[in-house]
Amino acid sequence: MTDRTGSFSLNRNIPFNKPYLAGRELEYMVRAHAEGRLAGNGPFTRRAQALLQENLGGSAAVLLTHSGTAALEMAALLLDIRPGDEIIMPSFTFVSTANAFVLRGGVPVFVDIRPDTLNMDENLLAAALTPMTRALAVVHYAGVACAMDEILSLAGERGLAVVEDAAQGFMASYKGRPLGTLGSLGALSFHETKNIISGEGGALAVNDPGLTGRAEIIWEKGTDRTSFERGEIDKYTWQDIGSSYLPSEITAAFLLAQLEAAEAITAGRLEYWHYYHDHLAELERRGFLRRPVIPPDCQSNGHIYHVLVNSPEERRELLDFLRGRQIHAVFHYVPLHSSPAGQRYGRASGELKVTDDLWARLIRLPLWNGLDVDILDRVIGALEDFYARPAKAKGLT
Ligand SMILES: *Cc1c(COP(=O)(O)O)cnc(C)c1O
Repeated sequence: MTDRTGSFSLNRNIPFNKPYLAGRELEYMVRAHAEGRLAGNGPFTRRAQALLQENLGGSAAVLLTHSGTAALEMAALLLDIRPGDEIIMPSFTFVSTANAFVLRGGVPVFVDIRPDTLNMDENLLAAALTPMTRALAVVHYAGVACAMDEILSLAGERGLAVVEDAAQGFMASYKGRPLGTLGSLGALSFHETKNIISGEGGALAVNDPGLTGRAEIIWEKGTDRTSFERGEIDKYTWQDIGSSYLPSEITAAFLLAQLEAAEAITAGRLEYWHYYHDHLAELERRGFLRRPVIPPDCQSNGHIYHVLVNSPEERRELLDFLRGRQIHAVFHYVPLHSSPAGQRYGRASGELKVTDDLWARLIRLPLWNGLDVDILDRVIGALEDFYARPAKAKGLT
């Protein structure tokens, strides 16, 4: 097991993801502990928010939350979503994009995705509008931006709010503008599977200055405690509906260490992403798979490296083949319009042909910060071996 000839590394298990530690997380948590200020909205929360705001630029306020889901729920509360209001969103997304609005009685209206970026197809939005449409919830899949110019101009014409589910989009941009800052509200996630992490965690970027006051109130259980803590008022009281959306200082301390390393973390992920991209070009040229497509307006953050294979059966075989080599590649979302809750609470706008086709052919390859090139080579080598096998061996007799 200790020999370094390669047999160890060949058999070593390759997980899909490994949480990356920047180095100072525990130090900051120890400091929060020593200072004895552990509840939310303390010094670490404020430092993390300030750093996020600096990184994002353009946001009127940034509030840390205990998850990306919580940030989306805050967005639905801030937009005053009422029963029957419709929110247009992709079906190919995480449940929280829809659930946050359904909790307010909103109705998700699912539209199809573009075959290149797997983001909501902006050309299908006009057909999905009804008099009940209130908002567009856009999801930047894999940290690659939606066509925001087209989306924002349609929203502007129709008076619709735009919420960005930028859970995967921190440190990525569209025409130089950071994701999360383009809509009136942007939700970020720091879940351990994302690029920048705090176990569970998130943030709401409030980009519309008219929403900041109420955002702080909703964040602090419906009270004006945030303004009380700034010394602006001498007592705090119940002002509006709200909940407890703050993370503790322990979480904020951990996150601060990650945020300080955000540029290095993003650069590392992009390097691995490009390594896959360069080395899989040949398999794409030979028609075995399709690599991710990043439009020129989009700077990604290397969050996901995915490939599309030629059929759902081939996906199953390939995942099994990789597992046989201790490589844990995974698929992604089961489309919401075909899920039990998606059918109960939402509806599809038109046929979602691209979604129905692509979700079943998508594979995400192992990618985490701090992996070594040997691991990338093993994954790439396994893909090459899979496609080099005679069709018979693949069970396609
Ligand atoms: C991760 C993710 C979320 C949820 O974030 P949590 O922090 O896990 O609550 C929402 N939407 C998308 C697109 C995500 O990838």
